[in-house]
Amino acid sequence: MDSSIYHDSLNASNERLQHIGGIILNLDYWDCECQSSFIHNVSQQRCDVCGSEQEDCPSSRENEVQRLLRV
Ligand SMILES: [Zn+2]
Repeated sequence: MDSSIYHDSLNASNERLQHIGGIILNLDYWDCECQSSFIHNVSQQRCDVCGSEQEDCPSSRENEVQRLLRV
């Protein structure tokens, strides 16, 4: 993902958020196709479990990042 992509705001962890139609995406994470542990930091290019590539995957939702990574 292009790190210069437009973002709307930052969260408490200084991660870039983008607001799209009521959904808040966290641009510093992306979702692979795994059923669990599907959130990856943008520093990871590929999921070794399902083989998804970051460039083919959507950004993670902020609420899921918060729920799954900051329990
Ligand atoms: Zn995966």
